[in-house]
Amino acid sequence: MANLENGTFKKLDVVVVGGDLVGSLEALFLAKRGHRVRLYEYREDIRNTPQARGRSVNLALSIRGRTALREVGLEDHMINNHGIPMKGRNVHRIDGSTYIIPYDSRTKQCIYSVGRNYLNGLLLQESENYENVERYFNHKLIASNLRKGFLSFQKTDTKEIFEVNADLIIGADGAFSAVRKEIMKQPLFDYNQKYIEHGYLELCIPPDSNGGFQMPPNYLHIWPRGEFMMIALPNQDCSWTVTLFMPFTHFKSLDNEDKLLKFFEKYFPDSIPLIGKQKLIADYFAGSASPLIAIKCRPYNVEDKALIIGDAAHAVVPFYGQGMNAGFEDCTILNQLFQKHHDDLAKILKEFSDTRWEDTFAISDLAMYNYIEMRDLVTRPSYLLRKAIDDV
Ligand code: FAD
Repeated sequence: MANLENGTFKKLDVVVVGGDLVGSLEALFLAKRGHRVRLYEYREDIRNTPQARGRSVNLALSIRGRTALREVGLEDHMINNHGIPMKGRNVHRIDGSTYIIPYDSRTKQCIYSVGRNYLNGLLLQESENYENVERYFNHKLIASNLRKGFLSFQKTDTKEIFEVNADLIIGADGAFSAVRKEIMKQPLFDYNQKYIEHGYLELCIPPDSNGGFQMPPNYLHIWPRGEFMMIALPNQDCSWTVTLFMPFTHFKSLDNEDKLLKFFEKYFPDSIPLIGKQKLIADYFAGSASPLIAIKCRPYNVEDKALIIGDAAHAVVPFYGQGMNAGFEDCTILNQLFQKHHDDLAKILKEFSDTRWEDTFAISDLAMYNYIEMRDLVTRPSYLLRKAIDDV
């Protein structure tokens, strides 16, 4: 492999901060190019923990994400062995009747429901096939000097501190990125964050008594109710992960079993027998609604030394199902720039930073808009829809 224009190869020493979806995929791309990659993750190894904590259990994988997985040889496995195709929206009216809105009736393209833990575990497992990848779990980034390529990690169990140097630092450490906090100290860094007034809470529709799906599995199910909505994505074990999105004020007001059941009887009556009354009560009161944040910022790099990708660079609200997919697309684009610029970091990081923001800002805006589409406009006749879109 050659990475300099004169044909010689300089192996880079790269540290990736964050070993969730985007960080573990980026580690694979860099490993395939022959660089040394050290992946540092705050949490323990997801492969040893049965449940995703505090994040969506499953996600919609679209063509952006699939393209990136194809590049690292994992697309077929995800689609054929794990992903559940969702061919359209299955919309639930209040009276329990349903109708289907196909995503693509012409070319039959669809999105796939995939398990977050499964995908993350697969990416980490694949990295074991590369001798040039080292994985450090339970390591939290606590300090850094990005210009000098210096990082300081603390081990969460022993509290030991490790100091590390790198040619390149990739911050894939999510919406509350420690790497981005460091970049924010640079002059001319633009930053904008927005918490929306709505939160989300996950519930579950279990498999039926024969272990099968209780609803038609090849759809993303939606219960649009104007100001709020519920959605459900299928899981491999024939359960459904159900996500209730609504204003925090609504969540607060449903503070006892009676109010919760009356609310569900009024707005989501067909979901009660599917979830089960006792399970609905137990799951609703076991958790609390989580917030949703959108972040736009730029530039994404510090000279030829550091770059943020994924949610660290562009967290979006989940209504367009494109957060992870856009993060995966970052990895594809970065890889193309490594090829184009023969691993010359100054050129790669500058071009990524100068060009990528336009698309991620657009995805962020589309995601905000799609909440109104999913919870409300999807139910309207087209002439009202046209007017509502004009009014937004
Ligand atoms: P994260 O997943 O946030 O991972 C960051 C990692 O960095 C974490 O593992 C964290 O522990 C680690 N970390 C953080 N700080 C440190 C530190 N100081 N030191 C070391 N490690 C650190 N996207 C889709 O494409 N499709 C969907 O259908 C979809 N549905 C969603 C539904 C919901 C309800 C939500 C909330 C999001 C959804 N998303 C979806 C978005 C998706 O979850 C994110 O875009 C994706 O997880 C971003 O991945 P990431 O690796 O960039 O960041």
